[in-house]
Amino acid sequence: MFDLTLKDEYNFSKDELVEILQSDGKKLFEVANEVRRRKVGDEIYLRGLIEFSNICKNNCQYCGLQAVNRHVERYRLSEDEIIKFAKDGVNAGFKTIVLQSGEDFYFNTDRMCRIIEAIKKNDVALTLSIGERSYNDYKAFKDAGADRYLIRIETTDRDLYARMHPNMSYDNRIECLYNLKELGYETGTGCLVGLPNQSVESLADDILFFKKLDADMVGIGPFIPHPDTPLAGKLNPDNFSMALKVMALTRLMLGDINIPATTAMETIDPNGRITALLSGANVIMPNITQGNYKAKYEIYPNKSGADKEALVYLDSLIAKITSIQRFVSNSKGFRTRQH
Ligand code: SAH
Repeated sequence: MFDLTLKDEYNFSKDELVEILQSDGKKLFEVANEVRRRKVGDEIYLRGLIEFSNICKNNCQYCGLQAVNRHVERYRLSEDEIIKFAKDGVNAGFKTIVLQSGEDFYFNTDRMCRIIEAIKKNDVALTLSIGERSYNDYKAFKDAGADRYLIRIETTDRDLYARMHPNMSYDNRIECLYNLKELGYETGTGCLVGLPNQSVESLADDILFFKKLDADMVGIGPFIPHPDTPLAGKLNPDNFSMALKVMALTRLMLGDINIPATTAMETIDPNGRITALLSGANVIMPNITQGNYKAKYEIYPNKSGADKEALVYLDSLIAKITSIQRFVSNSKGFRTRQH
């Protein structure tokens, strides 16, 4: 039987993780909330997300932006637009800007470095989430000023990974993560929860992998089927609660890291974001892409917030945060290690 009493450190075995993931999670969420409070406090870090290109060369089977999907109206923001949206985000108070896209190599080394340098002229932390690139690209982006990088492993089950990612390599994704760490990025990873034929055992392995990597940030999202993909209609109603359990256990196992209440959680459950903030999460990533691009960045359907201007609905978000006795941080929100 697992032991969920409050402790300073947790080192659950794979079997214990599986057992907890199979429980109802009630006790786990309570403990994760308390561990979150002790390790990272009541501050919430807001990261302003800009989705600057939905063009992608890959065919991740779960993703609505996969290259073969002809129903997507593809777009690319101009360098000026990206820099302007970032600047507006900084003026609205964001201390971190996140640039995310499909794997779009139009944004080559030089273009990315120009954009990074321009955004870093503001007093702001910069996170990239643009997929797999070479060591030299990651190095160039770091030298240009990028602080953090997000690249989810998605699943540590090699067979499932291979089925979900035709023509991609699990080993290369792992190598990307270790390259980013070596280059001194704050490194974020994470997984999808509820993919068809994903086992609870493999979710336990995912958590152990985050710990082994010593990830600085971990984003966990419930899988939400997209109608234009081969996984259309394959929604498991358990995805939200299972994702929440994986997230809460990640808080216990990794302690002082940053964990977002993901947009996918808010999309699949009307109160998902607040529930996540009360179960171990300490970060929110509002989408600050302006104009009608948001609806076109449809990795999954009905993405929460896609119909709103983030800079306008920010006030209501902050009110929600205050209503649970939490507050928005004034800092850039780097990981502060406690050991
Ligand atoms: N191209 C970048 C960014 C990917 S989009 C990269 O490869 O890292 C960001 C995340 O969205 C992905 O890592 C994936 O975990 C998640 N995602 C994609 N499709 C999804 C779906 N149908 N449901 C839930 N999350 C999804």
